[in-house]
Amino acid sequence: MDHLSRLKKFERTLIDHDLDGFVVTHPANLRYLCGYTGSNGLLLLLAGRRVFFTDGRYIQQAREEVQGARLVIAKGPLLNDAAKLIGKLSSAAVGFEADYTTVAAAEQMRKLVHRKIDWKPATGLIMRQRMIKDAEELRIITNAVKLGAGVYKEALKVIRPGVRESEVAGRLEYAARQAGADGMSFETIVAAGKRAALPHGRASGQPIPGRGFVVVDSGVILRGYCSDMTRTVHMGRVSRERRRWYEAVLEAQLAGLAAVAPGKTAAEVDQAARQVLRNAGLDRYFTHSTGHGVGLEIHEPPRLAKLQTERLEPGMVITIEPGIYVPGKGGIRIEDMVVVTGGGSQVLTPVTKELVEI
Ligand code: ZN
Ligand code: ZN
Repeated sequence: MDHLSRLKKFERTLIDHDLDGFVVTHPANLRYLCGYTGSNGLLLLLAGRRVFFTDGRYIQQAREEVQGARLVIAKGPLLNDAAKLIGKLSSAAVGFEADYTTVAAAEQMRKLVHRKIDWKPATGLIMRQRMIKDAEELRIITNAVKLGAGVYKEALKVIRPGVRESEVAGRLEYAARQAGADGMSFETIVAAGKRAALPHGRASGQPIPGRGFVVVDSGVILRGYCSDMTRTVHMGRVSRERRRWYEAVLEAQLAGLAAVAPGKTAAEVDQAARQVLRNAGLDRYFTHSTGHGVGLEIHEPPRLAKLQTERLEPGMVITIEPGIYVPGKGGIRIEDMVVVTGGGSQVLTPVTKELVEI
C-alpha cells in the first residue's frame, strides 16, 4: 500500500481547507493513511510533520505497520501527548474527525491547549479520499468479493428444510476463516420463510421451513477490505406470484446496475431501481436505500438513496441491493458489488442471480 502518497494527498486537502494540522483516531482512517491496524492510535499531522502516537501494548505492531510518520509511545492518554506538540505553536487551526469524536473528548481537547489553538470539527475529509479506491485496493476488494462468493456457495450446500439458520451462517463463516478471511464484515444474515421479511434478519435458531424464500446476506474481510453480497433462494417450487416478485427485484437490481456510470448521481441510480418496483406495484415493500459504498468499512459513502446528489466517480466501489419485504409472507434481496469505471461500471460479484429452488 502506498501510504505515503495517501498522506501527501491528504496534506494537500488540509491546505485547501486552511488547516495547519489534523488529528486522526478513527481506526479505518488510521489504517488507510498510515497502515496501522491496532485499536489505540493517534496520527497527528501538523505543519508538515507526521507523528503517530500509541501505547506500550502496540510497540511491536506499530513499528511493523506504521508508514510515513514518526512513532511515539505515549505514557498516558494519546491526546495529551499530541496536545503538547500542538500547544508549542503560537497559533493554529487543527482539524479533527467530527464524526468519531465524543462531546467529552472535544471538551477535553479544548482544555489541553491554549486559546490560540482553534479546533475545527471536520466531516468526511478522509472519507472523500477513501471513496476513490486505488488499483491495489481494487485488487484486494475483487479478491474479497471472490472469497465471499465462494463461501456463499459452501453455505448453499447446507440449506435444506429443518436446518437452522444459524447452522447455515456457521458453515459460511467457517468456510470464510478457512479460506483466509480476517473475519466477517457484519453479522451474517440468514432469514428464512416469514423472517425473510426482516431486512436485517440475523441468523436465528429457527429451522428453515419447507417452503418460502431464504435471504442470505454476508460479507468477509480480506486484508482489511470488506465484501458484501446477498442472494435469495426459494425452498420448494415457487408460486407464480412469488416468481413475479423475484423477477421484479432482479429487474430492479439490473436496472440499478445499468444506471451506474461516472457522472450519474447516487439518487439517479436509486431511482432507476425503485422505478422498476413501482411499475410492478411493489415499491411500498422496498423500504431501504438501493446501495452504499464499501471499502475498509462495510458502509461507506456514497449512499445510493433519494435526494443524494453525490456524483459517481471512477474508482468508487458500491453495492446495488434492492429488495422487497412483505410482512407475514417473506422477502427478497439481491445484492452485488460493482466498481465505477471510466466507461461505466464492472460488476464484481461472480454468482448467478437466476432463481434457485432447493
Ligand atoms: Zn449485504
Ligand atoms: Zn450492503
